[in-house]
Amino acid sequence: MSKFVFVTGGVLSSLGKGSFAASLAKLLKEGGVKVSVMKIDPYLNCDAGTLNPFEHGEVFVTRDGFECDLDVGNYERFLNEFAVHEQNLMMGSVYKAVIDKERRGDYLGKTIQLIPHATNEVKARIRSCAKVTGADVLIVEIGGTVGDLESEVVLEAARQMNFEEPPEAVTFVHLALVPTITTGEAKTKPMQHSVKALLARGITPNFLVARADSMLTNPVKEKIALFCNVREENVFTSPTLDSVYELPLTLEKQGVAQRICERMHVKFEDGKLDEWKKLVGRLKELREKGPTVKIGVVGKYATGAKDAYMSVFESLLHAGVHNDVHVDASLIDSEALEKGKANLSEFQGILVPGGFGGRGVEGKIAAVKFARENGVPYLGICYGLQLAVIESGRNLLGFKDANTTENEPDTKHPVIDILPEQKTVTEKGGTMRLGAKQVLVLKGTKAFELYKSEKITKRFRHRYEINPEFVKQFEEAGWVFSGKDPEREIMKIGELKDHPFFMGTQAHPEFDSRLEEPEPLYYGFVKAAKGRAE
Ligand code: GLN
Repeated sequence: MSKFVFVTGGVLSSLGKGSFAASLAKLLKEGGVKVSVMKIDPYLNCDAGTLNPFEHGEVFVTRDGFECDLDVGNYERFLNEFAVHEQNLMMGSVYKAVIDKERRGDYLGKTIQLIPHATNEVKARIRSCAKVTGADVLIVEIGGTVGDLESEVVLEAARQMNFEEPPEAVTFVHLALVPTITTGEAKTKPMQHSVKALLARGITPNFLVARADSMLTNPVKEKIALFCNVREENVFTSPTLDSVYELPLTLEKQGVAQRICERMHVKFEDGKLDEWKKLVGRLKELREKGPTVKIGVVGKYATGAKDAYMSVFESLLHAGVHNDVHVDASLIDSEALEKGKANLSEFQGILVPGGFGGRGVEGKIAAVKFARENGVPYLGICYGLQLAVIESGRNLLGFKDANTTENEPDTKHPVIDILPEQKTVTEKGGTMRLGAKQVLVLKGTKAFELYKSEKITKRFRHRYEINPEFVKQFEEAGWVFSGKDPEREIMKIGELKDHPFFMGTQAHPEFDSRLEEPEPLYYGFVKAAKGRAE
């Protein structure tokens, strides 16, 4: 019998519900609880694959090939576990399932309604996630803000579960903003209103978490307790922190996991976050005292765009800690680079992350050229590998029109071409080459030096690949394809021989990086950048 903790949010979005859910899960795990985390997104999309990453953040890919919300990436990083597709539910897939059943005649004669048909589907998915993950406690983060029209069905399903499950097997944690105004006062009214909105939906929160600039004082907590019907000792703070990795430590000090477990009658032994504490301390120390390595990540630019490359930035940070450097990574606008309005000379390493389409692509290729010609460590991720191959095609092999057929279908030198099985694919949702696949690593290469294994598994999300017809020519020009598909002619890792560090991969290794254990390719890249800095 699993127990469920629902995490809801009030007042506004982007409060850090995901970081809170991940941190709580971390504490429960350390405390000996078998825990998992699930995210429910109220959108009408069926998965995150078709969402704009510059509005919603990175599309994270589970090993079983689901394109999901970036919060799932946080769950993986905090729990140091691989997630499964059941851990992310987008409401489009719920409505689709209900309508498919209606068409099949599964409900013949019935009037199909949000309650009970859609809510039943939501509850079934939540329970199935608990079952698949084997969680004794499943934390369910409900996306959006209480009061949003689209979240109503999800909240209603949660309310019903509270009623259906045994007493105290369902707990509600509500996170809301407690802003500080110019007088220095922390204002509780927005939180009070959002709790009222929750109560109106039949949900009484058991715990409240104030998202605030600093820790709430006791009088403020008292006030919240009085107005919101939650005991003072069950009101916590999620303060603004330098690093999200500090949050489990802050919550631990407040006894959050302990109190929640007490209420749910779940056995909890006080955690031993020793290793985590050490790493977070080291992170802080390096940030304050250095040494620092500057990395330029060349991508599309928009406000908040760092979230669109979240796992990449996290991986660089992890790799920094284990290389004893602070990684100062900034996002460089590829379009500005294209127009000659950006400069790369201050960086000790250049990274081109995954991407799609033609916008800013010549700027990214210019960044590759700069790194290759100046011996600056380079790491190309997916599109970043493909563009590195295009750059070599143009400037080492002399194919002036070398390109990817993604952007130039009629090029005479399609050095990057569509995967054969993708040629007949017409639908866009969930149809890329997705999920974890094996990579054979060639001995005697830099890739082998870093992975120390001939067989690794990495995650993928792409439609195009290095055209096998050109592989020989690239090899003659100095490329070594050090990682390949075990069964097919797909190049998965490539490196340039006469360069301190010039590597690219068709995979997304950033999904595997952890604070405790950096991903080898990122580790090697930051190490090379550190070498250059010295
Ligand atoms: N657009 C490229 C492809 O589909 C690269 C994808 C990516 O970087 N994830 O192959």
